[in-house]
Formats: sequence, C-alpha cells, structure tokens
Amino acid sequence: MPAVGTEDAATLEAVSDERTRVLIIGGGFGGLFCARRLGRHDVDVTLLDRGAGHIFQPLLYQCATGTLSIGHISRSLREELARHRNVTTLLGEAIRLDPGARTVTAMRPDETTFTVGYDVLVVAAGMKQSYFGKEHFAEWAPGMKTLDDALCIRQRLFTAFEIAETLPPGPERDSWLTFAVAGGGPTGVEIAGQIREVASRTLANEFHSIAPEDARVLLFDGGDRVLKSFAPGLSDKAARTLTSLGVELHMGVHVTDVGRDGVTVTPKSGGAAEQYAARTVLWTAGVEAVPFARQVAEVLGADTDRAGRISVEDDLSVPGHPEVFIVGDLVGRDDLPGVAENAMQGGLHVAACVRRDLDGKPRRRYRYRDLGSAAYISRGNALLQVGPVRVSGFAGWLGWGFIHIAFLTGLSNRVSTVFTWMAAIGRADRHHRAFMLGGATAAEQHYTWSECDETPG
Ligand SMILES: Cc1cc2nc3c(=O)[nH]c(=O)nc-3n(C[C@H](O)[C@H](O)[C@H](O)COP(=O)(O)OP(=O)(O)OC[C@H]3O[C@@H](n4cnc5c(N)ncnc54)[C@H](O)[C@@H]3O)c2cc1C
Repeated sequence: MPAVGTEDAATLEAVSDERTRVLIIGGGFGGLFCARRLGRHDVDVTLLDRGAGHIFQPLLYQCATGTLSIGHISRSLREELARHRNVTTLLGEAIRLDPGARTVTAMRPDETTFTVGYDVLVVAAGMKQSYFGKEHFAEWAPGMKTLDDALCIRQRLFTAFEIAETLPPGPERDSWLTFAVAGGGPTGVEIAGQIREVASRTLANEFHSIAPEDARVLLFDGGDRVLKSFAPGLSDKAARTLTSLGVELHMGVHVTDVGRDGVTVTPKSGGAAEQYAARTVLWTAGVEAVPFARQVAEVLGADTDRAGRISVEDDLSVPGHPEVFIVGDLVGRDDLPGVAENAMQGGLHVAACVRRDLDGKPRRRYRYRDLGSAAYISRGNALLQVGPVRVSGFAGWLGWGFIHIAFLTGLSNRVSTVFTWMAAIGRADRHHRAFMLGGATAAEQHYTWSECDETPG
C-alpha cells in the first residue's frame, strides 16, 4: 500500500519494492473497471480521481431534471473499492506527468500538491465539455459532464419557472419560459424531452400566473437529423416523439453565439443568422480531452486528434511507452466510440495486460465489442439498437432501463433507482427538485445571473 505524504511534493511510494505499482488516473467507467479487475492481484493499485466518486454519466440528465438524486447516480470510490485491500483511492486532480521520474503530480482541493510514483500508468481521465474555443459560452450555457453540471442545470431549470411566475405577461416572461439546447445527440435529446415533460406534467398544475406547459424547448443541431449514431429509422421515430412532446427541432444550424438573453444560430448552408430569446441555454454539443490528457500527450510525444484523444498502439499503450495506457473516451484509435462500454472493456483489457506482463506472457490486442446503444426519448419510450435489432417505444424503454440498471454502481443505487422509476412512470411528480442558491448573506450561486452581465464576451 502506498504511504501518504503529508507535505507538499512528498512522493507516495510503495512500501514493498517487489510489487508493481499501478497508478490509475480517473475513477469513471474505464478506471473503475480496471481497478476492480486488478483488485486482489499481486500489484499495488492507486486510483486517483478529482471527484472521489464514480459518476454514472448516462443518467445525469435525470438528476438535472429532478427524477433522481445525485446519490442515485454516484458512489464513493473509497466505498466501492474498500474490499480490495491492494487498491488505494486518493482525492486529487492530476496536473503533471513526469515520465522520466515516473511520477504524477496531483493537486489537493486546497491547491497544495503531492506526487505519486508508478510502474504502470493508466490514464482514464475522460473528456470535458467543449465549446469549440468559445469558452465564454460556458458562463451562460452549462454542459452536462459532472454532478455540479447536473445540479447547476436543475437550479437554472426550476428557477426559470419561478422567475417567470413573478413577471407580468410579455417578452421577458416568455424568455424565461424558453429553453435552448445545443446538440442533438443522446444527451441533448434526453434533456430536451425531459424539460418538456417537467413543463407539461410535473409543473402543470403548480403555478397560478404562468402556464408551465406553454414553455418552449428549442433543440439546435448542425446535422440533418437527431441521434446520428442511430439508424435513420430510429432517429426519425425519436424526432416524431420529440415533436409530439412539443420540442421544436432546428436542424442544420450552428449555435454561433450565446449570451444573457439567448442564442444566435446560423444556418450551416449559409444565410442570415437568427436570434432566439431564451434565458436558459444548455450545451451538449461537443467534447474535448481534459487538460491533464493534453499534458500527457505532450510530454510523451504522442499524437492526438483535434479533440485531444491520444493515439495508442493496438494494446492501448502509448507508442514508445509500453508502461503508459490510455483507456475510455481518451483513446484515439479506429474511431472507437465515446461510450461507457468502450471504457469498461478498455479498463478490463488493460488490467489483463498488466497481469500478462507479470506472468511473462505477450499482451493481446484490444478488440472492442459493440454491444449496442440505447437512448431515452420520453417517459416509457426509448430506442435500442443492437446489431441488426432495432427497438423503440415501450419495448425500447424496457431494454434501456435494464441496461442502465445493470451498469449502475452499487446495489442500493440500483434498487432505489428501480423503485423511483416505477413510481415516476405512473405519476407526474419528481421528488428530487431541490436546488441551492447559496447562503442568505453570500449568494455563492447566481440567482438572476446579473453578476454575469459585466463579464466580457
Ligand atoms: C450526459 C452523458 C450521457 C451519456 N450517456 C451515455 C449512454 O447512454 N450510454 C453510453 O454508453 N455512454 C454514455 N455516455 C458516455 C459515457 O459516460 C462515457 O463514454 C464514459 O463515461 C467514459 O468513461 P471514461 O472512464 O473514459 O471517463 P469518465 O467516465 O468521464 O471518467 C473520467 C474520470 O476521470 C476523473 N478525472 C478527470 N480529470 C482528472 C484529473 N486530471 N485527475 C484525476 N481525475 C480526473 C473524473 O473525475 C472522472 O471520474 C454519456 C456521457 C454523458 C456526459
């Protein structure tokens, strides 16, 4: 087990020199599956994560819209890995790799640093939301990658209705009742559908001044159809369901500006830009590598694609550095998809490589097996695509639910999520709508976002 240093820059060294030290950066799907598979084997594993919890990202939108709590979709990594005595979990953000010294420097939440040594490094730090170089959009349009994002969206969503309730009828009130979503992939589709359901079912009878069901939800995407990764027939069905829910689809347009009052969209084919007044804008349009991954690629001299995914050998190691592996969304090879299944399989594959190295056997090449994909459209309605099998509607929803429950971390999370869904399918209410706005004397959270008004750009 590593000894934990208490001073800045103290290096955490393995007590035993004989055992291989495996350092995993990131406790998402890739890192967690790798750590679990190495648990109880003859190696010392350290799992370093900036959040100390495993987040089930596929259900973040249900947390953002009040169906599930953050407890349903996350689990402490320390708790999850407690029974693996050879695995140590550490809270810290990896900020620097020194491949010569074989150390990673990490930052604690109090901004002091420490370093961890390794013999084998597994980088499974995932991707972050990309605003395609327009970082100032983030102020107005939160993405959906972390628990903080989900809680921020929940706050903005329900606050928007509350603010509208206090305004007289007119354009300002309408803009608070207009929600713009950038990106027509699974996350954009899921959140857009959910906002319409919140408006038309959950909140329908709770307000006196406004009619929440009149809320507009606008979905913008540069492509010619939503859910491009699904077969055209399924994505057509999704579009019809979304339209019947009341989501307004705007295809073939790019969101070119985001500000306090709404969005500007420009047709991909050229033509005049249009503005939409919307006080709530959500961004699901793109991803890019986290900053640490970019530093890793730089110091290892590895190639990356435009989003920062790192090129790897066919065993997932970095060319010229067989002791460094890349796992999950960060892998830049063979157009591997950014899905949980690829991260889980990658994590298991790297664990197998480590064990084969110890046994003196040659490593195997990584082969991704596509087990299909699923997307939630609305209550009791989802798409499921497994090879030639295509299912939608209620049957799709059952398949979608089964897959998500199977991969949710922790038995209690699974059981409570199933019960919550069963309750939600027949009823309109959502029990996890609470949001925070900061203390009475210190408004840590923006309420009307007027603080942002002075932000340049
Ligand atoms: C909203 C949303 C919905 C999705 N829906 C689906 C779906 O329905 N089906 C599907 O298959 N996939 C889905 N995905 C994609 C899936 O979640 C990802 O492919 C998967 O999480 C990738 O796993 P990973 O291990 O590579 O990275 P992640 O799961 O993102 O984990 C990365 C981990 O690294 C940590 N980290 C980051 N930087 C550092 C650092 N510098 N130091 C220490 N720790 C760090 C993070 O805290 C995080 O815990 C969805 C993703 C999102 C965001």
